[in-house]
Amino acid sequence: MSWILSPALRRFTLLAAFASFMMNVMALAPSLFMLQVYDRVFGSGSMETLTMLVLVVALCLGVMSAMDVLRSRALGWASTVLDAKLGPAVLLQLLQASARPGGAANVYTLRDVSLLRGFLGGGGVLALFDAPWFPIYLAVIALFHPWLGVTALVGAILLFGLIWLNERLTRRGVDVATQKSRQASRFIDASLRNVEVIAGMGMADQVVGRWAAFNDEVLAQQMALARRQAPLQAAVRWLRQALQVAMLTVGAWLVVREHVSPGIMVAGTILLSKALSPIEQLSGGWRSLIEARAAWLRLQAEPIETPRVGLSLPDPRGQLDVERVTYAFPGQRTALIKGVNLSLPAGECLGIVGPSGSGKTTLLRLILGIWRPQSGTVRLDGADIAGFGAAALFRHVGYLPQDVELFSGTVAENIARMGPVDAEQVVAAAQMAGVHELVLRLSSGYETQVGDGGATLSGGQRQRIALARALYGRPRLVLLDEPNSNLDAEGEAALLQALNQARQLGMTVVMVGHRPSMMRSVDRLAVLRDGQVEAFGPRDQVLAKFSQAPAAVTA
Ligand code: ADP
Ligand code: MG
Repeated sequence: MSWILSPALRRFTLLAAFASFMMNVMALAPSLFMLQVYDRVFGSGSMETLTMLVLVVALCLGVMSAMDVLRSRALGWASTVLDAKLGPAVLLQLLQASARPGGAANVYTLRDVSLLRGFLGGGGVLALFDAPWFPIYLAVIALFHPWLGVTALVGAILLFGLIWLNERLTRRGVDVATQKSRQASRFIDASLRNVEVIAGMGMADQVVGRWAAFNDEVLAQQMALARRQAPLQAAVRWLRQALQVAMLTVGAWLVVREHVSPGIMVAGTILLSKALSPIEQLSGGWRSLIEARAAWLRLQAEPIETPRVGLSLPDPRGQLDVERVTYAFPGQRTALIKGVNLSLPAGECLGIVGPSGSGKTTLLRLILGIWRPQSGTVRLDGADIAGFGAAALFRHVGYLPQDVELFSGTVAENIARMGPVDAEQVVAAAQMAGVHELVLRLSSGYETQVGDGGATLSGGQRQRIALARALYGRPRLVLLDEPNSNLDAEGEAALLQALNQARQLGMTVVMVGHRPSMMRSVDRLAVLRDGQVEAFGPRDQVLAKFSQAPAAVTA
């Protein structure tokens, strides 16, 4: 995903880094001020010197505040850019990955994006920007006196060691806890999709029990993590205090030996504590840092699909050619679709029949280009269907899947494919699909909400609305997967009429079906068995060939 982020995000990060640098340099001012007060003002008693020092320090603190504001802004911009750019790209990626067979789409990528945004907006990231300037402080302390530098360095090494230990001890635990809680939420998602089964067969207790088992594991992991982290964090706090004392001790010794002035002792101690505070903050917010890093790595690991650009082909007429298409599911040795050849002139209607599992649905997906064949080509007007971009498919292809799902939205929006609603076209598609009257009878007509939280439509109603969706905008190629599986006699009559109208409009139609009654209106017929075309030709010829054994067609 890094390609998406590169320029804008890098600019903001650099800006934040610059602001951090300035802030940290300016933050030296109070300590140096103290040093001067101790060593000069006290010695000379000069009020002019004191006034000058106060002015300089005030200026430095002013610059520091300005840089502070700049840094917050830069990080705010960065998190906005991250969300605005990465969010849509990740969703697009998710949609593409989900359409691939067996491509277990990582639905958590979107969550990773918001996790990262939250991290960028939170306080932990500030410490991350401050920590790298530690060497500046160390150098200044070492300039005060080498022994003070050595003390600070040893202290810092010890602190880093503790933080590293913390990381080592908790990283695995954090991973396991995240994984378990994802399992739990996946389980809930699946259960909510099966509420009827759960209610109908009294499975609620079992579901709750299973979820509780997942949840217990998550809690146990989190407890274990907290148990391991508590002493380490206490140790970090102890070390911070101990380091102050150590610096003062070394400083006092140096003062007694008259190697340094008392001002240097105090200033060095203050500087060290200032330098270590972002590091201590990091150790407290370590968990969120690890999670953010893991999210970042997961996003980086997502394969990047170059978006289908789509050739600027002229609008297709609808000539369809399936050329020696072979397809095997990933990881399966035997092909499901074995060298299928079909060809359909523009404006004709092809029926595909065959027993369940013979590969009809798979063949339609290959024709649509949702899945890519291992060999062979599907051509629309002679051009590989894979070359058509989403925009072209949106305009020229209609698809009614076997299992109809409607989107959350109104009937009109669903028919208009969730794009801008062209009322005239919506009604035209509905009339063509013979669903106009049915829609008008719904509680709010075309404005009726369907899908999540909307009216519950019957399977037949959904299928007919989905037919209108497939016909919306008069596409050149329409694929219907068992469009009559949920239809009553009235619905079937409407479907037949829609097919006739489609033919009059010159659409190319491929229809998968079981019942021979539906095949009366097709021009050509293909019989598919075990992923192979057993017969293909003008409908009557194919029917005649099978008239002795009609079961072959209807099975
Ligand atoms: P039809 O539509 O003719 O009933 P399908 O094309 O739906 O047949 O399925 C054909 C075969 O492909 C079935 O045996 C099914 O188990 C298998 N199949 C379908 N989808 C997948 C998938 N995502 N991964 C592996 N096998 C699949
Ligand atoms: Mg099927």
